[in-house]
Amino acid sequence: MTTTTNTSKVVLVTGASSGIGEATAVRLAAEGHDVVLAARRTDRLDAVADRIRAGGGRATTLSLDVSDADAVRAAVDTVVQERGRIDVIVNNAGVMPLSRLDALLVDEWDRMIDVNVRGLLHGIAAVLPHFRRQGGGHVVTVASVGAHEVVPTSAVYSATKFAAWAITEGLRLESDPGIRATTITPGVVESELAEHISDPDAQTTTKIYRRNAIPADAIARAISFALGQPADVDVNEIIMRPAAQR
Ligand code: NDP
Repeated sequence: MTTTTNTSKVVLVTGASSGIGEATAVRLAAEGHDVVLAARRTDRLDAVADRIRAGGGRATTLSLDVSDADAVRAAVDTVVQERGRIDVIVNNAGVMPLSRLDALLVDEWDRMIDVNVRGLLHGIAAVLPHFRRQGGGHVVTVASVGAHEVVPTSAVYSATKFAAWAITEGLRLESDPGIRATTITPGVVESELAEHISDPDAQTTTKIYRRNAIPADAIARAISFALGQPADVDVNEIIMRPAAQR
């Protein structure tokens, strides 16, 4: 019995300059998909795309700040102009400057909301008109186990991931069957995510929490699995943690 489809898809991956996004772009390109890598650090994107092309894969890059709705719309329109369609958006770009609420790092709360929530909504707004015209498409949201649990220092981050979960589930419920919506919900994964925590207490606790991290390609494999299902199958959510994570 065939359980996956091998059709080559046009896939836009946000936050592809490191971590999960980079691993996803590399894996999907190796599987024959036409991958567009987007993020702000274009030098990093170009290096990843060069590596993909050197291995025989298809990859281009776009400079993109997902907190800018017009820029996200323009990026998606560019993909469609150049390739004739967009099949998948992996809304992966995210930030996690953890801190207790009483540290009052309001700018960091705003940044998490701008990237993790508004960035996701901007991605959905940009692709939906094309998906409707095409009669199909797939939105993949990289949420977090923070979408299902709150720990001290994660209140705002978890709130953004609860929101990402809710938005993606709402999209699934509202969409025609041709449009699929998948939430990918990782536990601790090797990446640069924790490097931007400025609060000293959160830095210390996060270092302990993150010591059992699994490679980013584990998450890329889950995304590949969701993409590879036949068109009448929508993988709603995959929750995966390191086996050692409690
Ligand atoms: P990284 O920090 O390695 O990657 C984050 C990516 O997001 C980078 O490519 C960064 O690119 C991009 N990004 C950040 N801000 C913006 C922006 N404004 N516009 C466009 N891109 C942006 O971390 P991860 O790979 O771990 O994070 C990817 C996703 O996985 C996030 O949504 C995160 O919340 C989620 N996640 C990660 C877990 C983990 O343990 N690693 C666990 C659960 C979920 P650039 O700076 O170049 O713009």
